Amino acid sequence: MFESLTEKLTGALRNLRGTGTLSEANMADALKEVRAALLSADVHFKVARDFIDRVQEQCVGQSVLKSVSPGQQVVKIIHDELVKLLGEGATELAAKRPLKVLMVGLHGSGKTTSTAKLGKLLKKKGARPFVVAGDVYRPAAIDQLEILAKQEELGFYCDRASKDVPGIGAKALESALAQNADVILFDTAGRLQIDHDLIEEVKKLKAAVQPDEVILVADGALGQEAVNVAKAFHDALTLTGLILTKLDGDTRGGAALSIKSVTGVPIKFIGTGEKTENFEIFHPDRLASRILGMGDVVSLVEKAQETIDQKEAERMAEKMRKADFNLEDFLAQMQQVKKMGSMQSILGMMPGMSGVQLPGDADRQMKRTEAIIQSMTVQERRKPSLLNGNRRIRIAKGAGVQVVEVNQLMKQFDQMQKMMKMMKGGNQKKLMRQMEQ
Ligand code: GDP
Repeated sequence: MFESLTEKLTGALRNLRGTGTLSEANMADALKEVRAALLSADVHFKVARDFIDRVQEQCVGQSVLKSVSPGQQVVKIIHDELVKLLGEGATELAAKRPLKVLMVGLHGSGKTTSTAKLGKLLKKKGARPFVVAGDVYRPAAIDQLEILAKQEELGFYCDRASKDVPGIGAKALESALAQNADVILFDTAGRLQIDHDLIEEVKKLKAAVQPDEVILVADGALGQEAVNVAKAFHDALTLTGLILTKLDGDTRGGAALSIKSVTGVPIKFIGTGEKTENFEIFHPDRLASRILGMGDVVSLVEKAQETIDQKEAERMAEKMRKADFNLEDFLAQMQQVKKMGSMQSILGMMPGMSGVQLPGDADRQMKRTEAIIQSMTVQERRKPSLLNGNRRIRIAKGAGVQVVEVNQLMKQFDQMQKMMKMMKGGNQKKLMRQMEQ
């Protein structure tokens, strides 16, 4: 997420971080670079200008230049200002139950997908979500929501025969409450552009269901355009929150950084991929840290807790301690890690690692390793010494790789086993020497 912005900002701040003494001149240079980085990420120019002014003011005001580690101080000021920019304070949905949420947005912004994603997230937190198909012009949108609702086991309502949106809303609400739902999410129709008819229809639905939250789903990849869309929707419907979608890939970050300060509406959730699990509660402080290349350890640990089976992890650790870790275990471990996301995205959450590019395509490499192990028999996975030359050729064929790759994997695994044995034997000194080589 926001890789190129992070790269530019860490570049601008690198010179500041280490310095014991800092002059006004090199601080001004760094801030100039920060401003350029924000602008090239498509941050609104006024937002960028005010941001730099505020940072500069504090740097002078707090006599940063005279402090013990001025560089670190400046980075901290920038971090805190970024948090403010992204939106301080609570970004959660109202706690009221039943909670009625109207989902609005332009066509293609990810509204229907986000409705299901939000339902899934709330369900995981113990709610009983119910989704309502309100896009009466696109039967495909109704089908899409129905499929997702089934998949995520959410309550669902639609009326394919009716075009009366407020009427559908009122009936859906009745049905949801009768089924004991406590969060009701209304998907609505989108248009390619904001137009009078779209807004009028949503206003009527709003009047009919009296929502507690009106959430705009906006395509984060659109940069300033997303900010303009948010402004227009907010003027017409008084939004209570935003979902920024499509922040995966190389989105520039301008929308995320400008939208709150331009519209005053907080970002509450972000979409980070097409799958229903690619959806996160928005944490301004965590994103600020990620943008500054400081990692996001809290999210990483949460992700690990969610995806990794604790008992299994302990069993694996025990096997490693006993040097009883075979290729079958290795495969299982790899599959666990994969559930957390791509290797590059995991690395991006580690402090100081955001700028590190993994060699080649690490995820592709991991898939090849997986294919190699999967082409082995269970006995071979448990006792890799069984693998002779002929078997290695067969395995390479089965996995669609070269024999050298199989050999390489076996060599690495052999090394790993040796290390585990040394650890088991308590020969730490020898191990350190080995690792230093
Ligand atoms: P709607 O017209 O606003 O209801 O949009 P949809 O929910 O149908 O989404 C439009 C397209 O965007 C679909 O192909 C979705 O899979 C995709 N999409 C939605 N959210 C995200 C996201 O966070 N990341 C990515 N990469 N794609 C997304």
